[in-house]
Amino acid sequence: MNHIVLIGIQGSGKGTQARKLVEKYGYVIFETGAELRKFSQGNHPQAGEVKMILESGNLVPLWLIKEILADFIKNLPANTKVIFDGIPRNAEQKQVFEEVVADFGVLYFQLDRHDAMARLLGRRIDPTTNETFGADFELDYNPKTGEKLVVRSDDTEQAILRRIEVFYDVTLPLVETWKQEERKVYDIDADLSVDEVFEEVEKVLHLG
Ligand code: AMP
Repeated sequence: MNHIVLIGIQGSGKGTQARKLVEKYGYVIFETGAELRKFSQGNHPQAGEVKMILESGNLVPLWLIKEILADFIKNLPANTKVIFDGIPRNAEQKQVFEEVVADFGVLYFQLDRHDAMARLLGRRIDPTTNETFGADFELDYNPKTGEKLVVRSDDTEQAILRRIEVFYDVTLPLVETWKQEERKVYDIDADLSVDEVFEEVEKVLHLG
């Protein structure tokens, strides 16, 4: 198994775990939401429209997902192991994704929707590295980079509720489909500390 797909409700710690895998094992991360936020701040004619979709919590159209995925794959050095965070997010994306990425396993981060909601409300990110900081983090900057932390513009209560609804409606069913297809899917209990979850991740991936 070469690549890893992370699936889980928003706030389940996918990004945090991905960053730990990058630091310790040299994976490259494809963070779909961060790529789309970058796109929405650029000068593409549809940037403004995409920004509005992100802020609503709905999914952006398939053409854009195809475009950012193709761009990423095109520039990927050979033999790179990738962590895909936030893609695929529905059945049509699964099909497009599997046309270009064949050899992957899935980590499914399980977290109750109320816990996810509590984690998302009050989180802040480093806008450059996308590192996430919980509501209990006391500084207003990232001690590693010095960057001022910001609240994501789509971390409003309304957008969070919509993202959670979209997750249950169209993303979660992918896990069942993969299991039926005998894809390697590992269930991870995401309601543990960051280090405990990472231990579980290392164990199922036979790392460390
Ligand atoms: P995330 O950072 O993964 O929470 O994603 C933030 C927002 O980006 C989502 O609410 C969607 O609007 C958009 N987004 C991220 N990944 C995808 C995707 N694979 N397909 C469509 N929209 C996406």
